[in-house]
Amino acid sequence: MMDAYANSLKGCVHLPDCLFCKIVEGTIPSRKVYEDDLVYAFHDIQPQAPVHLLVIPKKHIATMNDCQPEDQALLGHLLLASKKIAQEAGLEESGYRLVNNCGRDSGQLVFHIHWHILGGEPLGPLNA
Ligand code: AMP
Repeated sequence: MMDAYANSLKGCVHLPDCLFCKIVEGTIPSRKVYEDDLVYAFHDIQPQAPVHLLVIPKKHIATMNDCQPEDQALLGHLLLASKKIAQEAGLEESGYRLVNNCGRDSGQLVFHIHWHILGGEPLGPLNA
């Protein structure tokens, strides 16, 4: 099923003005930690924790609000890839936070959907 889904995304057009589409294309540099047919992950440029990674779908989706039923397999794939990425970053034992910001009040700055993997120290309560 994932092969069919991955094939359906081939030729997926990236948005010319999207920072994270440019990172996927390689026209803006990044410190890549993981890549497969559907997902790309890299170090955040302004880390908020000792480990701060970003996991994105290669397909341009602006926010959680823009996800459609046909993105179900992609989103599941991305979450399982995030688990693997966190494990490879050495966070399996200590734990980590997986965060998605959606829209204005969340403070979302980049409108290409992404999940932050944060860890490497105790993170404190979410509302601190
Ligand atoms: P958000 O507020 O959820 O939209 O988070 C966007 C994240 O992207 C922030 O943590 C930024 O530090 C990060 N970011 C912005 N530009 C880059 C870049 N060129 N490479 C890596 N991370 C970036």
